[in-house]
Amino acid sequence: MQKITHMQVWHLQLPVNARRDHGIGSVEHVIDLVVLELTSEDGTKGYGEASSWSVFTGSAEASFAALDRYIRPHVVGRFIGDRAAIMTDAGYAVAHCTEAKAALETALLDLQGRIAGLPVWALIGGKCRDTIPLSCSIADPDFDKDLVLMERLRADGVRIIKLKTGFAGHAFDIMRLERLRGEYPDFDIRVDYNQGLHHTDALACVRDVASFAPTFIEQPVKAHLFDLMAQLRDATDVPLLADESIFGPEDMQHAIDSKIADGVSIKIMKSGGLTRAQTVARMAAGVGMSAYGGDMFEAGIAHLAGTHMIAATPEITLGCEFYQARYFLVQDILETPFQVQDGQVVVPDTPGLGILPDLDKIRHYSVKKATS
Ligand SMILES: [Mg+2]
Repeated sequence: MQKITHMQVWHLQLPVNARRDHGIGSVEHVIDLVVLELTSEDGTKGYGEASSWSVFTGSAEASFAALDRYIRPHVVGRFIGDRAAIMTDAGYAVAHCTEAKAALETALLDLQGRIAGLPVWALIGGKCRDTIPLSCSIADPDFDKDLVLMERLRADGVRIIKLKTGFAGHAFDIMRLERLRGEYPDFDIRVDYNQGLHHTDALACVRDVASFAPTFIEQPVKAHLFDLMAQLRDATDVPLLADESIFGPEDMQHAIDSKIADGVSIKIMKSGGLTRAQTVARMAAGVGMSAYGGDMFEAGIAHLAGTHMIAATPEITLGCEFYQARYFLVQDILETPFQVQDGQVVVPDTPGLGILPDLDKIRHYSVKKATS
């Protein structure tokens, strides 16, 4: 068994092609993320990505510091196979910073998979599916631009969208739902408020939106308002999903006890890694809750990590939203494109994550780097 000999961390800023508004904040011009590279004794390299969003999980600066300063001493010099011990030590080394821990587990799995000649999904339970239905988010404050995107999605075979609501008023949300339902009857439409509703309006707005029968309504109110989430769930027949309310297994148990939702959006960036995300999915299935493969504003490395996790997690049945590499970034950072065919994400069968990052692109978009 080989040891980890080197660790590099980059903070990247990647240009995006549109503005995206959510109930908790907007993204425009660039997204910030952190890439981790681990090297083994034979020179094999494994990669991970921390996709941070300051208003949701935390900042890229925090992810960078978590990896470079606090987690690095628990990684360099350790055996690659001691993944559970390394992840436990990283968990205690720095509080929160779940995106950094997701990047670490991704890089450890990528490295181990490349050395063993096995895809990451083979290291975390084995594969239950070859493709994952893709959902793309509709979140541009200029709805005409989103209608152009809708035509592109239709031509590409994508048939799931998630309408981001709660950032520009209820009338704007209802207008867009009417247009989308009328003009795209063959699409599976979901709704995500990202906590955007005020508690005084929440019930009326959710009831209106529910009349359009979306597949689910996600996180209408603030993450900590568990009682209100439970009331909204009881007030409508449309399934309510929790996202910001549930990060990892600890929140999940609280959410189950409080009966706040019918389903959960599972993200490796919230749970702090692939195996903890699988734990959340199994807790959900154990009480009859559905599970969806959510993501942050990610590039291809994180998309691949999420794809392998969902490929090995039969409990996640509502598809995924790994659309950013193809539909939002001006340029992704992988050597070859993240694979989407006929509206489905394709699960790689090649070793590790399946695709390497393009180091020239990483250097090009890097604003900070740390090496040892
Ligand atoms: Mg969400």
